[in-house]
Amino acid sequence: MSAPYRRVALIGLGLIASSMAHAMRRAGLAEEITGHARSAETRATALEIGLCDRVFETAAAAAEGAELVMLCVPVGAMAGVAAEIGPHLAPGATVSDVGSVKREVISAVAPHLPAGVQFIPAHPIAGTEHSGPRAGFAELFENRWCLLTPVEGTDPGAVERYTRFWEAMGAHVDCMDAEHHDLVLAVTSHAPHLIAYTMVGVADDLRRVTDSEVIKYSAAGFRDFTRIAASDPTMWRDVFLHNKDATLEILGRFTEELFALQRAIRTGDGDMLFEYFTRTRAIRRGIIEAGQDTDAPDFGRVKKHED
Ligand code: NAP
Repeated sequence: MSAPYRRVALIGLGLIASSMAHAMRRAGLAEEITGHARSAETRATALEIGLCDRVFETAAAAAEGAELVMLCVPVGAMAGVAAEIGPHLAPGATVSDVGSVKREVISAVAPHLPAGVQFIPAHPIAGTEHSGPRAGFAELFENRWCLLTPVEGTDPGAVERYTRFWEAMGAHVDCMDAEHHDLVLAVTSHAPHLIAYTMVGVADDLRRVTDSEVIKYSAAGFRDFTRIAASDPTMWRDVFLHNKDATLEILGRFTEELFALQRAIRTGDGDMLFEYFTRTRAIRRGIIEAGQDTDAPDFGRVKKHED
């Protein structure tokens, strides 16, 4: 159990921040939660549903005096927010973010933070295709990994306390280098999202040929792609623009594999296809054994998903 932070500021009040607010309240991790979002509408909602005790029109005012400041905005908005709050941070405060990309977020945020402020970048590997302040729920982080990529020179005591904070919200915590994080996530999340966007785009093109059959007869494979491809356009645009190198590296490998499978289909190489699909099935078993999914039939897809 983590000692509560006296004041936690949530900058950005969407899916991740609202889930954090619920999880923090459930576990008693903050004595006060302040917040800021771009629009008056989101700020009003955050007050109305009790995400924040107080909301502010500026990020600087919300961050003022906070012991923990969480940047929960799209990756492309991190630099602007950091520049704004930098001069207003309390000495010794911890600043963290939940961005899906780490290396470029560190480069964008770190230069704006004064000496003595602890910057501990984080990425909870948990999410859904929904966004906004009403999308959050306290269980989002349960049994999910939260990856921390602390920068050199960070106080180990601050990292330890922040680790316990995420654990108290239900997450498992691991530390890794930011560059490694970006490569791993390019494989497990970023490239798969791009492939889903592409597949749904192809179907959308075809829909004009096959009328409404793509929707009417959508099978599980396509339905799963559409769920992923319904994810927030701003968030995902920013992920690809800021994890360019790793995503392009993985897409290059993906294209090579796709050509190999295409060739096997063309040449009727059933052994190759069978062996390939047997290998990939083992990965699915590994994920289930690691407790990161269940093998229950999941047609309604009602449970939480990861990003
Ligand atoms: P979201 O639901 O779309 O919410 C984004 C929030 O940021 C909104 O409250 C928005 O305000 C606010 N915002 C946007 N630009 C801003 C700015 N310049 N200044 C102040 N507030 C601003 O997003 P989310 O899904 O919570 O994602 C937030 C972060 O978490 C992203 O960096 C994303 O990469 C990361 N992440 C997301 C997931 C996921 O599955 N969704 C998983 C892990 C990590 P308005 O409502 O007023 O527009």
